[in-house]
Amino acid sequence: MRGLRVSEALGSGFSCNGNNVAYLTGSSTPLNGYGLDKEELFKIPFQARPGPSISTSYTSSMGFTIQSAILPRAYPHLLFEGILTYGWPGGYWFFHGILDKIKLAMGFKATQAVALLALGHDESDGKIMLEKGTNKISFIPPRDPLLPRKIKVFQKLTQKLGGVLFMSKYRSTAVHLLGGCNASSSGPSHGVCNPKGQVFDPLATVHPGLYVCDASLIPCSIGINPSFTIATAAEHISRHLVQDVLEYKIRREGTNYLGGVQDPDSFTEKTKTIDNGRRSVVTFKETMRGHVGGMPCTAFLKMKMNPHGEDQKDSDIEWNLGTNIHGNSHPLLRGKVGGHVEFRGFEKDNLHIIDGDVNCVK
Ligand SMILES: Cc1cc2nc3c(=O)[nH]c(=O)nc-3n(C[C@H](O)[C@H](O)[C@H](O)COP(=O)(O)OP(=O)(O)OC[C@H]3O[C@@H](n4cnc5c(N)ncnc54)[C@H](O)[C@@H]3O)c2cc1C
Repeated sequence: MRGLRVSEALGSGFSCNGNNVAYLTGSSTPLNGYGLDKEELFKIPFQARPGPSISTSYTSSMGFTIQSAILPRAYPHLLFEGILTYGWPGGYWFFHGILDKIKLAMGFKATQAVALLALGHDESDGKIMLEKGTNKISFIPPRDPLLPRKIKVFQKLTQKLGGVLFMSKYRSTAVHLLGGCNASSSGPSHGVCNPKGQVFDPLATVHPGLYVCDASLIPCSIGINPSFTIATAAEHISRHLVQDVLEYKIRREGTNYLGGVQDPDSFTEKTKTIDNGRRSVVTFKETMRGHVGGMPCTAFLKMKMNPHGEDQKDSDIEWNLGTNIHGNSHPLLRGKVGGHVEFRGFEKDNLHIIDGDVNCVK
């Protein structure tokens, strides 16, 4: 292993989310698998051009989901036919792409095509490794016991719709790559990072400040399109990351530090060191915008922290993340709140908050 000392599990436990991409072409059925025509596509600036998007989804009782995808024009037919290893039914599929192009050039109507995706669960036992000596990346795909069934379903669809099917017969072709830096609660022999995303140091605990925060920490197939799950995992890691940074600051600086991300427009007071803020009264205004039941809702709040100007006894100075040894929160983190809420979808007048309490630690 070169570079940073990391777990031997790096690169293993890799999943393709049970993916198999197929491409059905040469059909006379109106599949409308292309979202834009050539002219429309080229009018859009390169960076703003759309990618593929899922148009239909069907979850089969056989344990996987089949989806169709709309492609922008930019995806060349021959790419699909070239990278996928299996054409069905046998016969002229090998020359199909070339014949299709010739027909189009001769003014015949273009045949219809659509991309298909199967997804579900695989064994999540794939490996992606840098080979010692050769510096080549070796990839061993995860086993997918449902692959033969997926092929059968794609073939049935092709029989119904007509045309030629291209897909990989022997292994997953994936757009949903998951794992490789798997999270594990059982230490570095089973994963690359802990459930907080902190990267294990096999000879110590973790590498401070180094996190995995994307699809590569998800240790198994999800079975459905993964981006929301990935975003949720990233949010979970971020929450721990903030906590870790605060604890690190406390250890390093020896002070109790109130951190946090703040909207610069909505606060009259910025981040404050609690020890320096004893006896202070802090007032700030906050505007919170969001949706309740899909309807826009805005809260305009004014908060007065430590409204009675409480003083601290010396014995209470030991604060840990805003709480003293008795479990009471610091006076600057407690206060009174008032203001109003605008929730027009529910009530045309303002809803007033006359007397509220706030405790930032609870
Ligand atoms: C064609 C296609 C269609 C898809 N459609 C869907 C869908 O409809 N629904 C769905 O849920 N999922 C979909 N997915 C899957 C989804 O996009 C991915 O699972 C998800 O984006 C992975 O998130 P990630 O944060 O782990 O990685 P990514 O989104 O790939 O983010 C990695 C980022 O790291 C950056 N990066 C890479 N190397 C470096 C470097 N050395 N330094 C700095 N930055 C670097 C990259 O530029 C990129 O921005 C699709 C995937 C593909 C390929």
